[in-house]
Amino acid sequence: MLRRKCLTNDPAHGNQTAMSRFPIPPSVAIIGAGPAGLFAAEYLSAHGCRVDVFEQMPSVGRKLLMAGRSGLNLTHSEPLDHFLTRYGAAQSWLFPAIHDFPPDQLREWADGLGQPCFSGSSGRVFPRSMKASPLLRAWLARLAKQGVTIRTRHRFTGWGDSKHIRFEIPESTVAFTPDAVLLAMGGASWSRLGSDGEWADLFAAETAPFAPANCGFTPDWSQDFLHRHEGNILHSVGLSFENEKTRGDLTITARGLEGSALYALSARLREAIARDGSATILLDLRPTLPEDAALKRLQAQRPRESLSNRLRKAFALDSTARELLRDATPKDATPHQLTHTLKALPITLTGTDTLDRAISTAGGLRQDALDEHFMIRSRPGVFAAGEMLDWEAPTGGYLLQGCFSTGLAAAKGVLGWLESSVSGIA
Ligand SMILES: Cc1cc2nc3c(=O)[nH]c(=O)nc-3n(C[C@H](O)[C@H](O)[C@H](O)COP(=O)(O)OP(=O)(O)OC[C@H]3O[C@@H](n4cnc5c(N)ncnc54)[C@H](O)[C@@H]3O)c2cc1C
Repeated sequence: MLRRKCLTNDPAHGNQTAMSRFPIPPSVAIIGAGPAGLFAAEYLSAHGCRVDVFEQMPSVGRKLLMAGRSGLNLTHSEPLDHFLTRYGAAQSWLFPAIHDFPPDQLREWADGLGQPCFSGSSGRVFPRSMKASPLLRAWLARLAKQGVTIRTRHRFTGWGDSKHIRFEIPESTVAFTPDAVLLAMGGASWSRLGSDGEWADLFAAETAPFAPANCGFTPDWSQDFLHRHEGNILHSVGLSFENEKTRGDLTITARGLEGSALYALSARLREAIARDGSATILLDLRPTLPEDAALKRLQAQRPRESLSNRLRKAFALDSTARELLRDATPKDATPHQLTHTLKALPITLTGTDTLDRAISTAGGLRQDALDEHFMIRSRPGVFAAGEMLDWEAPTGGYLLQGCFSTGLAAAKGVLGWLESSVSGIA
Protein backbone atom coordinates (compact mmCIF):
# COMPACT_ATOMS: atom_id res chain seq x y z
CA MET A 1 0.00 0.00 0.00
CA LEU A 2 1.34 3.43 -0.98
CA ARG A 3 1.68 5.62 2.04
CA ARG A 4 2.79 9.22 2.26
CA LYS A 5 5.99 9.65 4.20
CA CYS A 6 6.69 12.96 5.85
CA LEU A 7 9.50 14.26 7.97
CA THR A 8 8.14 17.03 10.08
CA ASN A 9 7.89 18.50 13.52
CA ASP A 10 5.74 16.72 16.07
CA PRO A 11 4.56 19.31 18.60
CA ALA A 12 3.73 16.69 21.18
CA HIS A 13 7.34 15.55 21.30
CA GLY A 14 9.18 18.62 20.10
CA ASN A 15 11.44 16.85 17.63
CA GLN A 16 11.68 15.66 14.07
CA THR A 17 9.81 12.47 13.46
CA ALA A 18 9.18 10.39 10.38
CA MET A 19 5.56 9.40 9.89
CA SER A 20 3.71 7.31 7.36
CA ARG A 21 0.03 6.97 7.90
CA PHE A 22 -2.41 7.34 5.06
CA PRO A 23 -2.49 6.05 1.49
CA ILE A 24 -3.99 9.41 0.49
CA PRO A 25 -3.63 12.33 2.86
CA PRO A 26 -7.06 12.95 4.45
CA SER A 27 -8.25 16.54 4.56
CA VAL A 28 -8.93 18.28 7.86
CA ALA A 29 -10.63 21.64 8.22
CA ILE A 30 -9.68 23.54 11.35
CA ILE A 31 -11.95 26.46 12.09
CA GLY A 32 -10.45 29.22 14.20
CA ALA A 33 -6.81 30.31 14.06
CA GLY A 34 -6.12 30.92 17.73
CA PRO A 35 -3.62 28.88 19.76
CA ALA A 36 -5.91 25.82 20.01
CA GLY A 37 -6.58 25.66 16.26
CA LEU A 38 -3.01 26.39 15.19
CA PHE A 39 -1.59 23.81 17.58
CA ALA A 40 -3.99 21.20 16.22
CA ALA A 41 -2.93 22.22 12.69
CA GLU A 42 0.71 21.67 13.58
CA TYR A 43 0.10 18.17 14.92
CA LEU A 44 -2.21 17.02 12.13
CA SER A 45 0.00 18.33 9.33
CA ALA A 46 2.92 16.58 10.99
CA HIS A 47 0.95 13.34 10.88
CA GLY A 48 0.11 13.14 7.22
CA CYS A 49 -3.07 15.22 6.98
CA ARG A 50 -3.84 17.95 4.49
CA VAL A 51 -4.80 20.82 6.75
CA ASP A 52 -6.77 23.96 5.95
CA VAL A 53 -7.23 26.50 8.75
CA PHE A 54 -10.23 28.79 8.28
CA GLU A 55 -10.29 32.11 10.11
CA GLN A 56 -12.95 34.79 9.92
CA MET A 57 -10.62 37.69 10.67
CA PRO A 58 -8.17 39.16 8.12
CA SER A 59 -5.25 37.77 10.15
CA VAL A 60 -4.65 34.96 12.63
CA GLY A 61 -4.00 34.74 16.37
CA ARG A 62 -5.34 38.16 17.28
CA LYS A 63 -6.23 37.28 20.86
CA LEU A 64 -2.86 35.58 21.35
CA LEU A 65 -1.16 38.75 20.16
CA MET A 66 -3.30 40.81 22.52
CA ALA A 67 -2.36 38.49 25.38
CA GLY A 68 1.28 39.22 24.55
CA ARG A 69 0.80 42.97 24.94
CA SER A 70 1.02 42.79 28.73
CA GLY A 71 3.53 39.89 28.81
CA LEU A 72 2.58 36.55 27.31
CA ASN A 73 1.95 34.31 30.29
CA LEU A 74 2.21 30.99 28.49
CA THR A 75 1.84 28.60 31.41
CA HIS A 76 2.75 28.14 35.07
CA SER A 77 5.60 26.27 36.75
CA GLU A 78 3.82 25.02 39.88
CA PRO A 79 3.64 21.23 40.43
CA LEU A 80 1.22 19.53 38.08
CA ASP A 81 -1.18 18.23 40.77
CA HIS A 82 -1.63 21.77 42.06
CA PHE A 83 -1.73 23.18 38.52
CA LEU A 84 -4.68 20.94 37.67
CA THR A 85 -6.76 22.20 40.61
CA ARG A 86 -6.94 25.58 38.83
CA TYR A 87 -9.49 24.15 36.41
CA GLY A 88 -12.02 23.65 39.23
CA ALA A 89 -14.95 21.48 38.24
CA ALA A 90 -13.37 20.76 34.82
CA GLN A 91 -10.20 19.37 36.37
CA SER A 92 -10.95 15.69 35.78
CA TRP A 93 -12.16 16.42 32.25
CA LEU A 94 -8.97 18.26 31.26
CA PHE A 95 -6.62 16.03 33.26
CA PRO A 96 -5.78 13.56 30.42
CA ALA A 97 -5.13 16.37 27.94
CA ILE A 98 -2.90 18.40 30.28
CA HIS A 99 -1.15 15.30 31.54
CA ASP A 100 -0.39 14.34 27.94
CA PHE A 101 0.88 17.81 27.07
CA PRO A 102 1.95 19.43 30.37
CA PRO A 103 3.51 22.86 31.05
CA ASP A 104 7.10 21.58 30.62
CA GLN A 105 6.33 20.42 27.10
CA LEU A 106 4.71 23.73 26.23
CA ARG A 107 7.93 25.45 27.34
CA GLU A 108 9.99 23.06 25.22
CA TRP A 109 7.76 23.73 22.26
CA ALA A 110 8.21 27.51 22.63
CA ASP A 111 11.94 26.94 22.96
CA GLY A 112 11.85 24.98 19.70
CA LEU A 113 10.40 28.07 18.03
CA GLY A 114 13.33 30.15 19.27
CA GLN A 115 11.37 31.53 22.23
CA PRO A 116 12.96 30.21 25.44
CA CYS A 117 10.92 30.86 28.56
CA PHE A 118 11.59 31.87 32.14
CA SER A 119 9.54 31.55 35.35
CA GLY A 120 8.79 34.77 37.17
CA SER A 121 8.88 34.99 40.97
CA SER A 122 5.17 34.06 41.06
CA GLY A 123 5.85 30.89 39.04
CA ARG A 124 4.23 32.31 35.91
CA VAL A 125 6.06 31.31 32.73
CA PHE A 126 6.80 33.84 29.97
CA PRO A 127 8.87 33.78 26.79
CA ARG A 128 12.00 35.88 27.33
CA SER A 129 10.81 38.31 24.69
CA MET A 130 7.56 38.65 26.73
CA LYS A 131 5.67 39.10 23.46
CA ALA A 132 3.53 36.80 21.33
CA SER A 133 4.56 38.25 17.96
CA PRO A 134 8.00 36.56 17.55
CA LEU A 135 6.50 33.24 18.65
CA LEU A 136 3.56 33.54 16.26
CA ARG A 137 5.84 34.53 13.38
CA ALA A 138 8.09 31.49 13.86
CA TRP A 139 5.04 29.26 14.35
CA LEU A 140 3.37 30.39 11.12
CA ALA A 141 6.62 29.80 9.23
CA ARG A 142 6.70 26.25 10.60
CA LEU A 143 3.07 25.65 9.64
CA ALA A 144 3.71 26.93 6.12
CA LYS A 145 6.66 24.57 5.83
CA GLN A 146 4.43 21.72 6.90
CA GLY A 147 1.99 22.55 4.11
CA VAL A 148 -0.81 24.06 6.23
CA THR A 149 -3.05 26.39 4.22
CA ILE A 150 -4.48 29.32 6.12
CA ARG A 151 -7.63 30.86 4.70
CA THR A 152 -8.45 34.15 6.37
CA ARG A 153 -11.74 36.06 5.91
CA HIS A 154 -13.61 32.77 5.95
CA ARG A 155 -16.48 32.91 8.40
CA PHE A 156 -17.86 29.48 9.28
CA THR A 157 -21.67 29.50 9.18
CA GLY A 158 -22.54 25.83 9.64
CA TRP A 159 -23.29 22.70 7.70
CA GLY A 160 -25.06 22.33 4.40
CA ASP A 161 -26.57 19.12 3.11
CA SER A 162 -24.46 16.05 3.89
CA LYS A 163 -20.98 16.93 5.17
CA HIS A 164 -20.47 20.33 3.54
CA ILE A 165 -19.15 23.05 5.80
CA ARG A 166 -20.08 26.53 4.71
CA PHE A 167 -18.26 29.82 4.92
CA GLU A 168 -19.07 33.39 4.18
CA ILE A 169 -16.22 35.07 2.35
CA PRO A 170 -16.23 38.70 1.18
CA GLU A 171 -19.22 39.03 -1.18
CA SER A 172 -19.82 35.30 -1.53
CA THR A 173 -20.09 31.93 0.17
CA VAL A 174 -18.05 28.75 -0.28
CA ALA A 175 -18.38 25.14 0.84
CA PHE A 176 -15.84 22.43 1.59
CA THR A 177 -16.16 18.75 2.28
CA PRO A 178 -13.23 17.72 4.48
CA ASP A 179 -12.76 14.27 5.98
CA ALA A 180 -12.79 15.71 9.49
CA VAL A 181 -13.41 19.07 11.15
CA LEU A 182 -11.85 20.58 14.26
CA LEU A 183 -13.59 23.59 15.76
CA ALA A 184 -11.47 26.04 17.77
CA MET A 185 -13.53 29.23 17.61
CA GLY A 186 -12.75 30.52 21.10
CA GLY A 187 -15.02 31.93 23.78
CA ALA A 188 -17.20 35.02 23.67
CA SER A 189 -15.13 37.95 24.89
CA TRP A 190 -13.11 40.63 23.10
CA SER A 191 -15.24 40.02 20.02
CA ARG A 192 -13.30 42.63 18.06
CA LEU A 193 -10.43 40.10 18.01
CA GLY A 194 -12.68 37.46 16.44
CA SER A 195 -14.07 35.28 19.21
CA ASP A 196 -17.67 36.48 19.11
CA GLY A 197 -19.26 33.27 20.44
CA GLU A 198 -21.82 33.27 17.63
CA TRP A 199 -20.96 29.65 16.89
CA ALA A 200 -23.01 28.73 19.98
CA ASP A 201 -26.23 29.08 17.93
CA LEU A 202 -25.15 25.99 15.99
CA PHE A 203 -24.96 23.96 19.21
CA ALA A 204 -27.78 25.45 21.28
CA ALA A 205 -28.64 22.15 23.00
CA GLU A 206 -25.01 21.32 23.81
CA THR A 207 -23.74 24.66 25.03
CA ALA A 208 -23.68 26.07 28.57
CA PRO A 209 -24.47 29.81 28.52
CA PHE A 210 -21.43 32.07 28.35
CA ALA A 211 -20.49 34.01 31.46
CA PRO A 212 -17.61 36.39 32.08
CA ALA A 213 -14.51 34.84 33.69
CA ASN A 214 -11.44 36.74 34.85
CA CYS A 215 -13.63 39.77 34.70
CA GLY A 216 -14.22 43.08 36.39
CA PHE A 217 -17.02 43.67 38.92
CA THR A 218 -19.32 46.55 39.79
CA PRO A 219 -19.17 47.69 43.43
CA ASP A 220 -21.97 49.64 45.10
CA TRP A 221 -19.90 52.84 44.81
CA SER A 222 -21.20 56.16 43.57
CA GLN A 223 -20.66 57.23 39.97
CA ASP A 224 -18.96 60.29 41.36
CA PHE A 225 -16.34 58.18 43.18
CA LEU A 226 -15.73 56.04 40.08
CA HIS A 227 -15.46 59.09 37.88
CA ARG A 228 -12.96 60.81 40.18
CA HIS A 229 -10.76 57.74 40.68
CA GLU A 230 -11.08 56.08 37.25
CA GLY A 231 -7.71 54.72 36.10
CA ASN A 232 -6.16 54.70 39.59
CA ILE A 233 -4.49 51.49 40.68
CA LEU A 234 -4.40 50.09 44.20
CA HIS A 235 -1.03 48.35 44.02
CA SER A 236 -0.26 44.97 45.64
CA VAL A 237 -3.39 44.77 47.73
CA GLY A 238 -4.92 41.65 49.23
CA LEU A 239 -8.47 40.44 48.65
CA SER A 240 -10.40 37.75 50.40
CA PHE A 241 -13.74 36.14 49.76
CA GLU A 242 -15.04 33.29 51.85
CA ASN A 243 -11.86 31.29 52.55
CA GLU A 244 -9.91 32.35 49.47
CA LYS A 245 -7.23 35.03 49.54
CA THR A 246 -5.48 36.69 46.60
CA ARG A 247 -2.87 39.38 46.09
CA GLY A 248 -2.28 41.74 43.19
CA ASP A 249 -3.27 45.07 41.69
CA LEU A 250 -6.79 46.43 41.56
CA THR A 251 -7.70 49.03 38.93
CA ILE A 252 -10.64 51.40 39.22
CA THR A 253 -12.51 51.69 35.94
CA ALA A 254 -15.48 53.75 34.82
CA ARG A 255 -17.70 50.77 35.66
CA GLY A 256 -16.02 49.38 38.75
CA LEU A 257 -13.00 47.28 39.62
CA GLU A 258 -10.74 44.95 37.68
CA GLY A 259 -7.30 43.39 38.04
CA SER A 260 -5.48 40.16 38.74
CA ALA A 261 -6.40 40.06 42.45
CA LEU A 262 -10.08 40.08 41.51
CA TYR A 263 -9.82 37.77 38.48
CA ALA A 264 -8.62 34.92 40.65
CA LEU A 265 -11.84 35.14 42.69
CA SER A 266 -14.12 35.79 39.73
CA ALA A 267 -15.71 32.35 39.36
CA ARG A 268 -16.82 32.23 43.00
CA LEU A 269 -17.87 35.86 43.06
CA ARG A 270 -19.92 35.46 39.88
CA GLU A 271 -21.71 32.46 41.34
CA ALA A 272 -22.34 34.20 44.69
CA ILE A 273 -23.79 37.29 42.98
CA ALA A 274 -26.04 35.13 40.79
CA ARG A 275 -27.23 33.27 43.91
CA ASP A 276 -27.47 36.09 46.49
CA GLY A 277 -27.65 39.28 44.45
CA SER A 278 -24.35 40.59 45.85
CA ALA A 279 -21.04 39.43 47.32
CA THR A 280 -18.80 41.21 49.81
CA ILE A 281 -15.04 41.01 49.46
CA LEU A 282 -12.55 42.25 52.03
CA LEU A 283 -9.78 44.50 50.79
CA ASP A 284 -6.46 44.52 52.64
CA LEU A 285 -4.76 47.78 51.71
CA ARG A 286 -1.44 46.77 53.34
CA PRO A 287 -1.23 42.97 53.18
CA THR A 288 2.40 42.76 54.35
CA LEU A 289 1.74 44.81 57.48
CA PRO A 290 0.23 42.94 60.46
CA GLU A 291 -2.70 44.71 62.14
CA ASP A 292 -0.92 45.29 65.47
CA ALA A 293 2.08 46.85 63.70
CA ALA A 294 -0.31 49.03 61.69
CA LEU A 295 -1.96 50.19 64.91
CA LYS A 296 1.41 51.15 66.44
CA ARG A 297 2.30 53.12 63.33
CA LEU A 298 -0.96 55.03 63.38
CA GLN A 299 -0.72 55.73 67.09
CA ALA A 300 2.79 57.12 66.56
CA GLN A 301 1.40 59.91 64.32
CA ARG A 302 0.81 63.36 65.81
CA PRO A 303 -2.87 63.47 66.85
CA ARG A 304 -3.20 67.11 65.75
CA GLU A 305 -2.51 66.19 62.13
CA SER A 306 -5.52 65.67 59.87
CA LEU A 307 -6.71 62.08 59.45
CA SER A 308 -5.68 62.19 55.81
CA ASN A 309 -2.13 63.18 56.73
CA ARG A 310 -1.88 60.52 59.44
CA LEU A 311 -3.02 57.81 57.02
CA ARG A 312 -0.61 59.00 54.35
CA LYS A 313 2.35 59.15 56.70
CA ALA A 314 1.62 55.91 58.56
CA PHE A 315 0.75 53.70 55.57
CA ALA A 316 1.79 55.63 52.46
CA LEU A 317 -1.80 55.45 51.22
CA ASP A 318 -2.66 57.40 48.10
CA SER A 319 -5.76 59.58 47.85
CA THR A 320 -7.96 56.74 46.50
CA ALA A 321 -7.07 54.39 49.35
CA ARG A 322 -7.48 57.14 51.93
CA GLU A 323 -10.94 58.04 50.64
CA LEU A 324 -11.99 54.40 50.65
CA LEU A 325 -10.82 54.02 54.23
CA ARG A 326 -12.51 57.21 55.41
CA ASP A 327 -15.78 56.25 53.70
CA ALA A 328 -15.74 52.82 55.32
CA THR A 329 -15.21 54.06 58.89
CA PRO A 330 -17.21 56.38 61.16
CA LYS A 331 -16.17 60.04 61.28
CA ASP A 332 -14.80 59.69 64.82
CA ALA A 333 -13.20 56.28 64.18
CA THR A 334 -10.61 55.12 66.69
CA PRO A 335 -7.12 54.02 65.55
CA HIS A 336 -8.30 50.46 66.26
CA GLN A 337 -11.27 50.82 63.90
CA LEU A 338 -9.10 52.44 61.24
CA THR A 339 -6.40 49.77 61.27
CA HIS A 340 -8.96 47.00 61.37
CA THR A 341 -10.63 48.46 58.28
CA LEU A 342 -7.24 49.06 56.63
CA LYS A 343 -6.76 45.28 56.80
CA ALA A 344 -10.35 44.23 55.96
CA LEU A 345 -12.24 46.93 54.11
CA PRO A 346 -15.58 45.53 52.94
CA ILE A 347 -16.59 46.13 49.31
CA THR A 348 -20.01 44.98 48.16
CA LEU A 349 -20.07 43.80 44.56
CA THR A 350 -23.43 43.75 42.84
CA GLY A 351 -22.60 42.55 39.33
CA THR A 352 -19.96 41.57 36.80
CA ASP A 353 -18.56 43.79 34.10
CA THR A 354 -19.74 42.99 30.56
CA LEU A 355 -18.98 39.64 28.91
CA ASP A 356 -17.11 41.30 26.06
CA ARG A 357 -14.58 42.93 28.43
CA ALA A 358 -13.75 39.70 30.27
CA ILE A 359 -10.29 38.15 29.77
CA SER A 360 -11.97 34.79 29.18
CA THR A 361 -15.39 33.18 29.29
CA ALA A 362 -16.99 30.35 31.20
CA GLY A 363 -19.62 28.30 29.36
CA GLY A 364 -19.39 26.80 25.89
CA LEU A 365 -19.63 23.23 24.64
CA ARG A 366 -20.39 21.02 27.63
CA GLN A 367 -18.35 17.97 28.54
CA ASP A 368 -21.34 15.68 27.98
CA ALA A 369 -21.59 16.95 24.39
CA LEU A 370 -18.15 15.46 23.63
CA ASP A 371 -16.62 12.02 23.85
CA GLU A 372 -13.27 11.39 25.55
CA HIS A 373 -11.47 12.28 22.28
CA PHE A 374 -13.16 15.71 22.13
CA MET A 375 -15.46 14.60 19.30
CA ILE A 376 -18.92 16.17 19.34
CA ARG A 377 -21.29 13.25 19.90
CA SER A 378 -24.05 14.68 17.72
CA ARG A 379 -21.60 15.28 14.83
CA PRO A 380 -19.29 12.34 14.17
CA GLY A 381 -15.99 13.52 12.68
CA VAL A 382 -16.30 16.99 14.23
CA PHE A 383 -14.02 17.80 17.17
CA ALA A 384 -13.66 20.85 19.41
CA ALA A 385 -10.91 22.41 21.51
CA GLY A 386 -9.76 25.51 23.37
CA GLU A 387 -11.81 28.18 25.02
CA MET A 388 -14.97 27.19 23.18
CA LEU A 389 -15.26 24.29 25.63
CA ASP A 390 -17.04 24.75 28.95
CA TRP A 391 -14.10 25.17 31.34
CA GLU A 392 -12.60 28.14 33.05
CA ALA A 393 -9.40 28.92 34.91
CA PRO A 394 -7.79 31.96 36.48
CA THR A 395 -5.13 34.01 34.72
CA GLY A 396 -1.60 32.76 35.36
CA GLY A 397 -0.99 30.82 32.15
CA TYR A 398 -3.76 28.28 32.80
CA LEU A 399 -5.90 29.55 29.93
CA LEU A 400 -3.30 29.17 27.19
CA GLN A 401 -2.10 25.85 28.62
CA GLY A 402 -5.70 24.59 28.52
CA CYS A 403 -6.04 25.71 24.89
CA PHE A 404 -2.78 24.09 23.75
CA SER A 405 -3.45 20.84 25.61
CA THR A 406 -7.03 20.46 24.40
CA GLY A 407 -5.95 21.52 20.89
CA LEU A 408 -3.52 18.63 20.86
CA ALA A 409 -5.96 16.19 22.45
CA ALA A 410 -8.64 17.01 19.87
CA ALA A 411 -6.06 16.73 17.05
CA LYS A 412 -5.14 13.26 18.32
CA GLY A 413 -8.86 12.47 18.41
CA VAL A 414 -9.14 13.54 14.75
CA LEU A 415 -6.20 11.39 13.77
CA GLY A 416 -7.57 8.31 15.55
CA TRP A 417 -10.95 8.85 13.95
CA LEU A 418 -9.45 9.26 10.47
CA GLU A 419 -7.31 6.17 10.92
CA SER A 420 -10.26 4.04 11.83
CA SER A 421 -13.04 5.51 9.71
CA VAL A 422 -11.49 6.99 6.57
CA SER A 423 -8.55 4.83 5.68
CA GLY A 424 -9.38 1.75 7.70
CA ILE A 425 -5.96 1.82 9.37
CA ALA A 426 -6.39 0.46 12.89
C1 LIG B 1 -6.30 40.92 27.04
C2 LIG B 1 -6.09 39.43 27.17
C3 LIG B 1 -4.94 38.96 27.76
C4 LIG B 1 -4.76 37.57 27.91
N1 LIG B 1 -3.59 37.12 28.46
C5 LIG B 1 -3.41 35.81 28.65
C6 LIG B 1 -2.21 35.30 29.20
O1 LIG B 1 -1.24 36.05 29.43
N2 LIG B 1 -2.12 33.97 29.46
C7 LIG B 1 -3.15 33.11 29.17
O2 LIG B 1 -3.03 31.91 29.46
N3 LIG B 1 -4.27 33.55 28.55
C8 LIG B 1 -4.42 34.86 28.30
N4 LIG B 1 -5.56 35.30 27.69
C9 LIG B 1 -6.57 34.31 27.24
C10 LIG B 1 -6.12 33.60 25.95
O3 LIG B 1 -5.65 34.56 25.01
C11 LIG B 1 -7.29 32.80 25.37
O4 LIG B 1 -7.76 31.91 26.36
C12 LIG B 1 -6.87 32.02 24.12
O5 LIG B 1 -6.46 32.89 23.09
C13 LIG B 1 -8.03 31.16 23.60
O6 LIG B 1 -7.52 30.41 22.53
P1 LIG B 1 -8.50 29.70 21.47
O7 LIG B 1 -7.62 29.18 20.39
O8 LIG B 1 -9.39 28.76 22.17
O9 LIG B 1 -9.42 30.87 20.93
P2 LIG B 1 -9.07 32.30 20.29
O10 LIG B 1 -7.67 32.69 20.56
O11 LIG B 1 -10.15 33.21 20.73
O12 LIG B 1 -9.19 32.01 18.73
C14 LIG B 1 -10.43 31.67 18.16
C15 LIG B 1 -10.38 32.07 16.70
O13 LIG B 1 -11.58 31.59 16.06
C16 LIG B 1 -12.00 32.57 15.13
N5 LIG B 1 -13.43 32.38 14.88
C17 LIG B 1 -14.47 32.54 15.76
N6 LIG B 1 -15.63 32.29 15.13
C18 LIG B 1 -15.33 31.97 13.84
C19 LIG B 1 -16.12 31.61 12.71
N7 LIG B 1 -17.47 31.53 12.75
N8 LIG B 1 -15.49 31.32 11.53
C20 LIG B 1 -14.12 31.39 11.44
N9 LIG B 1 -13.34 31.76 12.48
C21 LIG B 1 -13.94 32.04 13.68
C22 LIG B 1 -11.69 33.89 15.83
O14 LIG B 1 -11.64 34.96 14.91
C23 LIG B 1 -10.37 33.60 16.52
O15 LIG B 1 -9.27 33.95 15.70
C24 LIG B 1 -5.75 36.66 27.48
C25 LIG B 1 -6.92 37.16 26.88
C26 LIG B 1 -7.09 38.53 26.71
C27 LIG B 1 -8.35 39.04 26.07
